[in-house]
Amino acid sequence: MSDGSYAPTELTRLHRRPDRGSYDRALIHAILDEALVCHVGFVLEGRPHVIPTSILRQGEYVYIHGSPNNRMLSALADGAPACIEVTLVDSLVAGRSGFGCSMDYRSVVIYACGERVEGAEKPAIIDAIVQDLIPGHKVRPPKQKELDATLVLRFPLQEVSAKVRDRGVIDVEEDYARDDLWAGVIPLRITAGAPQDDARLKPGIATPDFAKRYKR
Ligand SMILES: Cc1cc2nc3c(=O)[nH]c(=O)nc-3n(C[C@H](O)[C@H](O)[C@H](O)COP(=O)(O)OP(=O)(O)OC[C@H]3O[C@@H](n4cnc5c(N)ncnc54)[C@H](O)[C@@H]3O)c2cc1C
Repeated sequence: MSDGSYAPTELTRLHRRPDRGSYDRALIHAILDEALVCHVGFVLEGRPHVIPTSILRQGEYVYIHGSPNNRMLSALADGAPACIEVTLVDSLVAGRSGFGCSMDYRSVVIYACGERVEGAEKPAIIDAIVQDLIPGHKVRPPKQKELDATLVLRFPLQEVSAKVRDRGVIDVEEDYARDDLWAGVIPLRITAGAPQDDARLKPGIATPDFAKRYKR
C-alpha cells in the first residue's frame, strides 16, 4: 500500500470497465464508513455462502461481530478466507433503452482472513460499532457474559478494490435524438424517520437530539 492507495493484486484487478475501478484509500474508507451492512462471502463444507452483517471500519481494518455460535464467524475465526463487499446505490439510471438502464453506485470488495479481537480492544470495538451506527447514543458498560457471548473479528485492508459508477445516463448516440422517451436519474438516499420511544422507557426521559436529527 502506498500512502494514498492500495496496490492492486491478481485478485483485486478489475477486468470489465477498469476505468470505474479505484484503489484510492480515502475513497475506499469513505464507502466503508457510509455502509451500514456488508455481505461476507466464504466457503464452508465445500459450498459458497454469502451472509449479510454489520460492518465497522477503523484505521486499516474492518470489523464484524456476533455470536460465537454464528457459523460464519466461527468459520472465519478458524481461518476461512473471506470476501467482504459493501454497496451503496446512489441513483437509479433510467436510460432510453433497457441496455441504457443502470444504477450509479459505489462499492468495495475486500479479500482477507480474519483474526479474533480480544482483551481491552474488544469492548472498545463494540462501543465503536454502536457509535458508528448511532452517533451520540449512550449505553451502559457491557457485562462480562455479554463480552464472552460476542465474537469480534477484524480483517486487514490490504487486498481491496472500489468501483464507482457516477455517470448517470449513458445512451447509444442515436437514442439522444428521440422525442418520445424520458431519461434521467432517480437519486436514492437513506433517510431517517421520526424516532419512536421504547414502550418501556421511564417517564421523563426525553428523546435525544441525535435521534431526532439522525442523518446517514
Ligand atoms: C449496484 C451494482 C449493480 C451492478 N450491476 C451490474 C450488472 O447488472 N451487470 C454487470 O455486469 N455488472 C454489474 N455491476 C458491476 C459488477 O459488480 C462487476 O464489477 C462486474 O460484473 C464486472 O466484473 P469483472 O468481471 O470485471 O470483475 P471480476 O473479474 O469478477 O473481479 C475482479 C476484481 O475486481 C474487483 N471488483 C469487481 N467488481 C467490483 C465492484 N463492483 N466493486 C469493487 N470491486 C470490484 C474485485 O476486487 C474483483 O476480485 C454492478 C455493481 C454494483 C455495485
